[in-house]
This record gives sequence, structure tokens and C-alpha cells, in this order.
Amino acid sequence: MATMQSLIGLVNRIQRACTALGDYGGGDSTFSSLWDALPSVAVVGGQSSGKSSVLESIVGRDFLPRGSGIVTRRPLVLQLHQTEGREEEYAEFGHLPRRRFTDFSLVRKEIQDETDRITGKTKQISPIPIHLSIYSPHVVNLTLIDLPGLTKVAVEGQSETIVEDIENMVRLYVEKVDCLIVDIRGERTFGVLTKLDLMDKGTNALDVLEGRAYRLQHPWVGIVNRSQADINKNTDMMYARRREREYFATSPDYGHLANKMGSEYLAKLLSEHLEKVIKGKLPGITSMINKGIEEMEAELDHLGRPIAVDAGAQLYTILELCRAFDKIFKEHLDGGRPGGDRIYGVFDNQLPAALRKLPFDRHLSLQNVKKIVSEADGYQPHLIAPEQGYRRLIEGSLNYFRGPAEASVDAVHFVLKELVRKSIGETEELRRFPTLQSALAAAAGEALEKFRDESKKTVVRLVEMESSYLTVDFFRKLPQEVEKVGPAPPPGDRRASSADRKNPPPDRGIPAADRASAVDPLGDRYADNHFRRIGSNVSSYIGMVSDTLRSTIPKAVVYCQVKEAKQNLLNYFYTQIGKKEGKQLAELLDEDPSLMSKRQEIAKRLDLYKVSKDEIEAVAWVR
Ligand code: GDP
Ligand code: MG
Repeated sequence: MATMQSLIGLVNRIQRACTALGDYGGGDSTFSSLWDALPSVAVVGGQSSGKSSVLESIVGRDFLPRGSGIVTRRPLVLQLHQTEGREEEYAEFGHLPRRRFTDFSLVRKEIQDETDRITGKTKQISPIPIHLSIYSPHVVNLTLIDLPGLTKVAVEGQSETIVEDIENMVRLYVEKVDCLIVDIRGERTFGVLTKLDLMDKGTNALDVLEGRAYRLQHPWVGIVNRSQADINKNTDMMYARRREREYFATSPDYGHLANKMGSEYLAKLLSEHLEKVIKGKLPGITSMINKGIEEMEAELDHLGRPIAVDAGAQLYTILELCRAFDKIFKEHLDGGRPGGDRIYGVFDNQLPAALRKLPFDRHLSLQNVKKIVSEADGYQPHLIAPEQGYRRLIEGSLNYFRGPAEASVDAVHFVLKELVRKSIGETEELRRFPTLQSALAAAAGEALEKFRDESKKTVVRLVEMESSYLTVDFFRKLPQEVEKVGPAPPPGDRRASSADRKNPPPDRGIPAADRASAVDPLGDRYADNHFRRIGSNVSSYIGMVSDTLRSTIPKAVVYCQVKEAKQNLLNYFYTQIGKKEGKQLAELLDEDPSLMSKRQEIAKRLDLYKVSKDEIEAVAWVR
């Protein structure tokens, strides 16, 4: 008996937990329904065939709504718990935990009210069960499900599909392999024949009760419930039970079957059988629960675990998330993930191309050189080399380098910003925290902005350094002016030669002898060559500076932006977070609400499965 109580009690506890979780079978959920796996006894039959009466008789209490037509409109899961000795009988609803009903007429009213709460005051039906537990020394441990009676026609106020709807709902319950009533092969069905007292005198139902009319695996049980007149008279249930016993004991037709008839016997029969079914089912239920636990753990890992509530743990979580992001960001820069190569692209393509496009041809055109040198000379033309003119020409040219230098900084800034955005998207753990995502993006963006400013200052300084001190060696090595014929431009100076090609000197093609004879230090033709040579000298100096900057700008940019981003991107964010209060930390960990509710639902269900597993293991231990 101890085993029996614990097994049916076990299933009862799991069933109640299922309903609390909204698992009442039928399964549209992602996870297999535990409810569906639990054995139960469903009561099926035509309207007014006496189903509710049988249930009341089994309980020994008068507590079900009654009336003509469709009264039962939601499944009623009736869990009977046998209590010890003289304890008071009471009832408890799944939807009203901890409220004990001792007045059973109030139980009837609550069933009616709770039915209406879901279906409205219509005559519609709903598959959401009502859970009712009855604790009494007069019951056996048993779970029965009272279902709406099968009917042939819809009545007023019901939808046209009601007949079908009821059939479908009943089928949903009885299709479960573990359900004990009604199946084609008659293996799971306990036949119950009511209203034996109403049969015409001289006829009997022995054909049915002895299994000749309908063959079932289990024996038929005959029942005599209270008649409508009894109900109207408020006939006591215990009295009705006794009268039923007497009916069979004294019946000329059924006397030989008396100890296998009646509602008390039916209750015992069902209880014993349910016990046996549960026992056989437990290994299957256990493995289903284990599989469910595994699936849900995996799903929770995917969704992310619930977040801790204390500030310390929240801070820790945030820092962990930042680190996860930072790691991915670094992988982008260091390789391993794509994107860092685009920074090299800036140095290898964009910067050299921009340097090549600088308008030195125009700035060092013969005309401009002449103009600048003359302006620098003032009223006294230079005698040998125009020192001031050179300086002005060089300074003017060097100024052009600021543009490409700053553009490289901006281009790298853009790449870094894009990599931050990408890394946030790729940080799986961050996915559930949209608020933290945007806070991170903002903080990283701000830091990058700061690095950009530093980097710009540095590259501009590199350019300025070039104009603040010119390389003396270069000018010392220049060929002397005294050779009258213009020297070939220094080897490797593409700029000077292209300048020459663009502005072909007017004296090309004139025989060398003519040119030599025409030499005149202050004459125009000499002057042109002289200025052209100045332009070409400045041009090769600028070419040299350009080569230098082409390698120093990337160094500065990497030092100020890339390296900083790699090492200190979130430093400021970390100090800010360290100062935050618990509430602000919690806000940063705000989640997508749909995700949150999904996780909560799974976590709750997981709890149910774990509790069920423990309960089953405890029972198995007792056995
Ligand atoms: P349900 O619709 O299947 O739940 O049927 P009920 O239990 O509400 O019974 C319908 C009517 O039949 C009620 O008036 C009951 O009193 C009556 N009834 C049920 N069983 C018996 C029985 O065994 N004998 C007599 N005389 N009346 C019964
Ligand atoms: Mg009924």
C-alpha cells in the first residue's frame, strides 16, 4: 500500500506542476509534454450517462455541478488522496493553492465559476483542465479526468462544431497510450454500466456485465448511482453507497457478481490498475525527463543563463561580456578574423596614391618657382643660390602633406569603428543584452574618437617637423650652379622629370653651342634654366620627404590608433562601470523581453523536470 500511495501521489504531484506550467498535453510546445507521458484515467461517455455521478460515488461526496445538457465544459482532473484515519476531508484547487475547501457545495460553485472564467458564460468548451484534489480517508489514491459528455447535436448558444470539438477533446485525452478508458481493441478500457436500477423489470444486463456483448480486456462493472429524485432529496452519498452495495447483494440477477460490482469496487480496481501502469511507465518517463533536461540545458546555454541579482556578480558579468567582445575585436586586428588587413590597405594603397596625387607639378611649375623666388628675393635678386626662395618653396610644398596624413588617420578610424560594430555583432554572449551592446558601442566609439584626435596631432606634427629643419646634406650634395648647362635631374626623381615633360623648356632643340654662346647670368634664358633647376631640386627634396612620410605616417597611426585600440579601447568604460550603482548595472544588463520570457519559461519547465526526476528517484528508492 505504501508503494501504491507513493506512486499515484507522485504522478499527482507531477500532474499539478504540469498544469501550473501550462502543460496540459496536446503539445504545441518545443519540448515533449510531460503531461502526455503521465498515465491517467479518463472518463468518457455520452451526455447524462452518469459520469459525474460515478465520480461522486467514488469520492463519496456531492461536489460536481449538475444540470441538464452540457455541464462539464472543461476537463476536470480529479486527484484523490487517501489520508490517514480521522483527518478532516477537504478539497483544494490547482488554481487556488493553499485554500482548503471543507464545504463541498462551495467546491461545486468554484468549478462552475472557474469553468466560466475560461469559457465565459457561454456553452463553449475548453481543453484547459481544472485541477481538483480531494484529501479524504474515504477515497483510494486515484486520478480521474472527467470530460465533457459526447453528444450528437449542438444546442442553442453553442458553435456548430461543438459535437466535433468535444469528440476531438475526448480523443486528445484517450489517445494517450496510458489512458485507461476507451480504445478500439478494448485493452485499456474499463467498461462501466450505470443506471442498472432503471432497467425494465424482467430484463438484465448480464450479457454486458459478463463480457459477452462487448468484449473488453478488463471486466465490466455495474453501477447504481443516485437518481435525479435522490439528488433532489439531497440523499446522503454514504447512504447511496450503502444502498448500492445492498442492491447488488440482494439482486436476483447480479447477486453472484456482487463483490465485483459497485462504485467502491470500481475505484479500487482502477487504483490498482493505474498503479500497475505507472510502474511499467516509470522507466520511460524517467528517460523522457532526462532527455528533456538535456535539451533544455542546451537551449538555456544557447539563450544564456539567468543573470545574477547582486551588484558584484552583475559587474563581473558585464566585465566578462566586455572581455569577450574585446577578444573578438583583437582577433580582427591581429588576424584570425578578417578586417585588420584593411588597415594595411590604407598604408599600402590609399596613402601612397594620395601622396602621388599631390599637386607638386603645379606648385613647382617654372612660373610659380619664378614668382616665389622673386618675391623672396625682394629688391635685391639673389646672387648664387636663392636661400629664402628654396625655403618658401619647400615649406609651401610640405604643407600639402597634411591632407593625406589626416586622411590616413580618418581612414583607419573608419576601419576600426567598423570592426567594433562587427565584433559586437559577433560576440554571441552579448546578443541578449541590447542595452549593453549600445553602451559598449558608444564607449568604444568615444575612445576611438580620442585616439583619432591624438593620431591627427601626431601626424601633423610629423609634417611640421619636416618643415622646421631641412636636411642640410641634401643641399650640400647638389651639383654646383657654375656648370652652365642644366644638369640632368637627380636619378630616381620622377616628379622633376614629369614636371619637365609637362613644361618642356623652350630652349630644347637649340644646339648646345648656341646655348653656350648665349650664356648670360642675368639673361632670360639662363634665368629659366636656373629656376627650372631650383624647381627640380625642390621637387627631389620633396620626393625624399614623401618617401619618409610614407613610412612614418603608418608608424604614427598604428602607434596612436591601432595599438591604443588594441590595448585601451575599453579602459575608460571600465572605470565608468566601476563607479556605477547596482541599479545602473542591472539596467546595462536589460534584456530583450521576449528572450527573457522564453528563458524564464524554459527555466521553470526545467525546474519541473528536475523536481519530477528527484521525486521519481525518491520513490524508486523506497521500492
Ligand atoms: P453525466 O452527464 O454523464 O455526467 O451524467 P450525470 O452524472 O450528471 O447523470 C445524469 C442524470 O442521470 C442525473 O439526473 C443522475 O441522477 C442520473 N443518473 C446517473 N446515474 C444513475 C443511476 O445509476 N441510476 C439512476 N436512477 N439515475 C442515474
Ligand atoms: Mg457530467
